[in-house]
Amino acid sequence: MISTSAVDAYVEKHTRRFVDELKELCSFPSISNHGHAAIQPARDWLADRLARFTDRVETLEAGGMPALYAEVKGAGRRKLLLYEHYDVQPVDPLDLWQSPPFEPAERDGRIVARGVADDKADVMARIHALETLKNLGEAPVTLRFLVEGEEEIGSRSFAKIAHDHADKLKADGCLWESGTSFDDAGRPTLQFGCRGLAYVQLRVKRLDFDQHSGFASIYPSAAMYLIGALASLRDQDMNIKIDGFYDRVVKPTETDRRMMATIDPETEKRRKLVGFDKLVRDPKPEQVIEQMLFLPTCNIAGVTTGYQGPGSKTVLPAEASAKLDFRLIPNQDPDDVVELLRRHLDRHGFEKVEIVRGEGEKPARSDPSSAIARTVIDCVRDMHGEPVLWPFMPATGPMHPVVSDLGIPTVLPVGVGRPDNRIHAPNENIRAADYINTVRLNCRIWERFGAA
Ligand SMILES: [Zn+2]
Repeated sequence: MISTSAVDAYVEKHTRRFVDELKELCSFPSISNHGHAAIQPARDWLADRLARFTDRVETLEAGGMPALYAEVKGAGRRKLLLYEHYDVQPVDPLDLWQSPPFEPAERDGRIVARGVADDKADVMARIHALETLKNLGEAPVTLRFLVEGEEEIGSRSFAKIAHDHADKLKADGCLWESGTSFDDAGRPTLQFGCRGLAYVQLRVKRLDFDQHSGFASIYPSAAMYLIGALASLRDQDMNIKIDGFYDRVVKPTETDRRMMATIDPETEKRRKLVGFDKLVRDPKPEQVIEQMLFLPTCNIAGVTTGYQGPGSKTVLPAEASAKLDFRLIPNQDPDDVVELLRRHLDRHGFEKVEIVRGEGEKPARSDPSSAIARTVIDCVRDMHGEPVLWPFMPATGPMHPVVSDLGIPTVLPVGVGRPDNRIHAPNENIRAADYINTVRLNCRIWERFGAA
């Protein structure tokens, strides 16, 4: 077994290069929303990096953006699946960035670049952990890297990739992308699942072309029609009015409640960071986390209609559209939700609203007492102190095929994620020290998991 002091010495010696190489990966504008050509250079660069450690590097494709796969044989009998993604979110609004999003900058001990937190730090930290262990000896477990290329656009072909290549992905445990890793008090956090997602666009067309608004007295308004439909879906307190929407929602178990009781809701710090006046439903402090996890949502992500330019334009728009996302909790299913939405619109006189389906992902839950979960909890405790355990995270990832279909126990470990990372927003950043600790933690987890 390679000692932690040998690992730490190696990592310390190569800290500057590790940070520079992470920045190099972050200089690729791998925005999956911009199509195949946008993400290929980052994938090629990563394939090259992984090829230094194994000749088993390949791309896995199932009709969407290709994932990168690499297997590195290890000394022990166990196999570990490592899930990350190399694609990133778009950068708009560009004018709010203090430095160009794909020219990684270092400020106050932080690295600033689109994708540095979500999820290129995980991708690169695991490659650097592999380099560290390989240089000091051997990989203790067989590592199966799966670096996805379309996580930020809903992982549309991920389930098919997972099913088609089940043999390559099978493992005794899975380390997912790390997500939120520290709360505001700096306590490490672990999660064992995620919420699901149903994304739709609603489209309304009531006229063949825009009209002078003088005709609003006699012509129907697409904008009002859509707004009426939106208003029928939910109220301000996130009570969703779609019949049957809550039918498959599970209640928290006693274990869930015990785990959630140790989580700090951080309401005041969130208020300062985000700037809301009151939380939805104005929950008591001890109810905030349960509401955050177990209350499914219907969110308006955007509404488009008519004129919003300078000055006035008296127009009756012919069309209107909105994009909605629903965060789903176990055991809701995105297909069901879209069907229920269609039925709701038809029953409430909004049959002219067309639904265009976007991505859908099922929620996922894994056992917080699995072997990989216990290993991660122990290693995190040693390095960062007692971890706060979340039943699942409020956000969404394509975990369901791995956790439920392939049956691999899965943990979202500690990485670089902090509340002020600004993921998906301008000036996305991480602390460089967190990056180096992530490399060290990966080495510890693999060593301990491989020793069994
Ligand atoms: Zn991510």
